[in-house]
Amino acid sequence: MRIKSLHIPTLREPPKDAETVSHQLLVRAGYIRRLAAGIYSFLPLGVRAVEKVKRIVREEMDRAGAQEVVMPAVIPAELWIESGRWPVYGPELLRLKDRKQAEYCVGPTHEEVVVDLARKDIRSYKQLPVNLYQIQTKFRDEIRPRAGLMRGREFVMKDAYSFDASIAGAHASYKLMYDAYCCIFERLGLVFRPVEADTGNIGGSMSHEFQVLADSGEDAIVACDGCDFAANVEKAPLAAQPFAPIGATGPARVIDTPGTKTIESLCKLLGCRPDQTIKAVLYMADDQAAVAFVRGDREVNEIKVKKALACANLHLADAEWFAKTTGMPPGYVGAIGTTNVQVIADFEITAMPSAVCGANAKQQHRVDVVPARDMADVAFADLRMAIAGDPCPRCPGKLRAFRGIEVGHVFYLGQKYSKAMHATFLAEDGKEQHFEMGCYGIGITRILAAAIEQNHDARGIRWPVAIAPYEVAVLPMALEGEQLTVAEELYAALLQVGVAAVIDDRDERPGVKFNDADLIGYPIQIVVGKRAGERVVEVKLRHAGVKLELSVDGLADKLARVMVTCRLGPALTAEALS
Ligand code: ATP
Ligand code: MG
Repeated sequence: MRIKSLHIPTLREPPKDAETVSHQLLVRAGYIRRLAAGIYSFLPLGVRAVEKVKRIVREEMDRAGAQEVVMPAVIPAELWIESGRWPVYGPELLRLKDRKQAEYCVGPTHEEVVVDLARKDIRSYKQLPVNLYQIQTKFRDEIRPRAGLMRGREFVMKDAYSFDASIAGAHASYKLMYDAYCCIFERLGLVFRPVEADTGNIGGSMSHEFQVLADSGEDAIVACDGCDFAANVEKAPLAAQPFAPIGATGPARVIDTPGTKTIESLCKLLGCRPDQTIKAVLYMADDQAAVAFVRGDREVNEIKVKKALACANLHLADAEWFAKTTGMPPGYVGAIGTTNVQVIADFEITAMPSAVCGANAKQQHRVDVVPARDMADVAFADLRMAIAGDPCPRCPGKLRAFRGIEVGHVFYLGQKYSKAMHATFLAEDGKEQHFEMGCYGIGITRILAAAIEQNHDARGIRWPVAIAPYEVAVLPMALEGEQLTVAEELYAALLQVGVAAVIDDRDERPGVKFNDADLIGYPIQIVVGKRAGERVVEVKLRHAGVKLELSVDGLADKLARVMVTCRLGPALTAEALS
């Protein structure tokens, strides 16, 4: 295409609301425009990049045996009432009424609709397994839409749903999707990791997130340096520890500690370290007061707490409510003599030789607390967030910490939806049986943001070839004479051999052309300048940051050959062109 005729409105300044690099660059380089919070239009470059992602996803889903369908975006409430999700999904669900006052929602995910399809048409085990997928616009009224395409309210997702006759079959379907996802993210040229993820309320043992590694990522993940264990910190299990022996410490004593509601102020007063204290985190668990204790320097993992308390709803307690309900003063709640409240403590506390904790009385703490001696009646569980340096739950290795952006999620659902919606088939033994299901999502539009977070520099985007809207930009430095002739010749030759090329035929200064090309992120720029007469041009590889002087003759063929490989994921290197 000729850039003069393309609608690529680049901007010099990032929009005011854009904090993340990918958001800034997508807007500045002319890929997207904001319409409302979390709702964006895609401009021509954006559409091309999204279409490339979709194509790779389709190819790998089809290869894995999944079949594409398109389900409606607007879903009748009845289906959601049947599955039980209508009252519990909360304000993220965009609900609407038609002219007859019938209720609907705009689909944030499509388990209900796909189960309805399956129960109507799949009668026998002979029709199984089936995996149906779609690529569709979803709506979730996120509390905090942010970072442009990263967390939109309207966004494009690929969602797939597998139906199997048995658990073993469902596990095989899961494995197929897991492998397909690995291929997809490799082909997209992203550095990613599949990590074990929490299974939430649904239960079951299998869930993996696919995380693109980037410092700006929202998710904290840990991975072992000795084996292939990797998990979201929400999930990463930490083992129980033996009790530290009862040392020479005397009995626990209550001391006055005025004004020490926080661990920081307590340590300052007593001259101790946070890891010598026990922190109380106060909760309301299904309307009951509960306390989780962790070492003072640790962070509680609410997902683990929720599991340990076996409750449906868990919220941090309002201090006043807690004090009124339990008679204990927030800020001074301790692990000994705690009444009227459910108490759990993190495994790690058992390994503390002696500790300081609240005394359940205002302005007082207990010192010389020896967990092995003084906390014998407390229930211990795995309650804290894993961090770098923690032991691996699978091998003697240690965990390392990373940040990630969740671009995909595979989930073994079991019979949760098929049971709720009475979706059955006739099994081989002639009995009615509920489908075994799995669901598998990919954030198509989030991938654009994730790819940029991982691939950019101060000048702009450095797309992997697989996602780039165009592969090569031909930049004539002058729009006349040999420079123009050679540029046009190259451009025509590139199109001829199937390379997605543009020519910058705008009457602009070289600086403007370079800035735009770097910003937009074409993987290859071909600068046709002073040496055009000798049929030599400069080839700039955006990602590797290398410039090569190459002959025009045979260049298009060479680039076409190299592109065939790079379109499958491998990075573009200078060696490939020399
Ligand atoms: P998150 O924890 O980021 O909210 P999720 O667990 O709600 O994600 P899923 O329901 O598993 O996400 O959706 C499948 C995929 O859709 C996610 O892996 C993610 O890539 C993408 N996705 C989810 N929510 C959004 C959003 N608000 N904007 C863009 N993409 C999203
Ligand atoms: Mg979400």
